[in-house]
Amino acid sequence: MAGASAGACRRLKLFRYEAPIVGFHQDEVEHWVADLVCGHSQHVRHQPPWQNRQWVVSEQGRFEKTGFELDCVECDAENQDVID
Ligand SMILES: [Zn+2]
Repeated sequence: MAGASAGACRRLKLFRYEAPIVGFHQDEVEHWVADLVCGHSQHVRHQPPWQNRQWVVSEQGRFEKTGFELDCVECDAENQDVID
């Protein structure tokens, strides 16, 4: 990812956990949330120009992204605990 703050995140990156998407749902304010295979979930907001995820607003787009791997920050955090 270009522009990420590499310095601060270097250690986290070593233990990055990528979890495939198994489905999607919408939260109480109708933001899209990806359900990950590990049981966690992650927002996949479409907020151009910062987060450009046009695909998430269409059923076809979400279907195509099923199985796509997202960095699961909750698994990352759990792995951090183990390492520390
Ligand atoms: Zn997870």
